[in-house]
Amino acid sequence: MRPISTAELLSVGSELTVGETRDTNAGELARTLTDNGVEVLRMTALPDDLAAVTDAFRVALGRADLIVSTGGLGPTPDDLTRESIAAAIGETPSVDPDLERWLRNLFEHRGLPFPTTNVKQAWRTPSTTPIPNDNGTAPGWWVDAPGERVIVALPGPPREMRPMWTDWALPRLRERDLGRRSVAVTLRTTGLGESMIAERLGALLDRGSNPTVATYARADAVDVRISAVPTDDMDAAALVAAAEAEVRHLVGDHVWGRGDVTWAAAIGERLAARRWRLAVVEIGTRGSVLGLLGEGLGDRVAFAETLSTGHRPPEGGRLDLRRLAEQVRQAGGAEVGLAVRAATRGANMAVSIAIADPRGTHAERRLAFLAGPQGRTRAALLAAAILHARLRA
Ligand code: AMP
Ligand code: MG
Repeated sequence: MRPISTAELLSVGSELTVGETRDTNAGELARTLTDNGVEVLRMTALPDDLAAVTDAFRVALGRADLIVSTGGLGPTPDDLTRESIAAAIGETPSVDPDLERWLRNLFEHRGLPFPTTNVKQAWRTPSTTPIPNDNGTAPGWWVDAPGERVIVALPGPPREMRPMWTDWALPRLRERDLGRRSVAVTLRTTGLGESMIAERLGALLDRGSNPTVATYARADAVDVRISAVPTDDMDAAALVAAAEAEVRHLVGDHVWGRGDVTWAAAIGERLAARRWRLAVVEIGTRGSVLGLLGEGLGDRVAFAETLSTGHRPPEGGRLDLRRLAEQVRQAGGAEVGLAVRAATRGANMAVSIAIADPRGTHAERRLAFLAGPQGRTRAALLAAAILHARLRA
């Protein structure tokens, strides 16, 4: 049987191409396919147009081992996915008596008359196996297409599509030779922009496709993703491990996490390792530090307070952030006190961070790019990075 190592995704529906509905289906499918070692070659959104959709299936069948479509399985004349697939594989759909019975039953149970337009939801072609839909009236199609390629057509509503994909289609795809057993690891970095990371990684980034090293600028980190598929004499994990060692050699001083980890989780782990708790006071950040860390840290946050930009010490004089960190540490009965102050400086944000712990106090000043909400978010990320580094020291 033809192994399934490549896929194309087709999202069908004019609501997508006019921008009324966001295509979330393709992203979800891409994620699970990638996790299963299948390379997604293309993701295409299409209007409800018979010629366009037929053409898309026909072209995709010439390229990919698997085509997964969502949408266009409704009962109305503009739902044309079935017609398009039939045309692309040169088959004629006809009513499947079992499907029609199931469909008529569904309407009967709801006490509704059966609209004749719905009959086409009972269609299948000779190469089609219907995919049961427990949450709607549109069965999906599993099509054994020419050349041992597979088409999986699913309805558009995510709550119908999801279980049909996860519980019905994926297990059947896995029974075939699905995906190359790829291995991937993500290293999360801070303190260098994406271009600086790329510069340090240099040739590693364009050394070919196996292993693959790529950088992704996310809101909370620049990620370095290392992935590999097995070769004749090396398994994928060994290839990734070797590449990870090289990456760490070049940017290891900036790596703060591995895998899906968040700042809250990374800091929580450091605190837990020392059995420490954290008290936070933030000024001029509108709670962005607590917003970033609070949820994930749970009980490890002993105390948190947000003060407005204009905050001045009650005893008068200049605000001493180191002292504030020590005070909040004591007031919260915590081992670590974190004080963060952000103030707009032109288009940017000046950020001061002080950390008090049983070893003494530590303070740093940084500039966060952009002011306003983005600046405040970046101020919180800077505070998280400095706190994490301090807890690691
Ligand atoms: P359909 O199967 O074409 O009748 O789709 C019905 C509904 O599913 C649409 O009106 C959307 O609300 C939703 N939908 C369709 N395609 C997508 C998609 N690609 N991503 C998210 N929702 C979708
Ligand atoms: Mg539609």
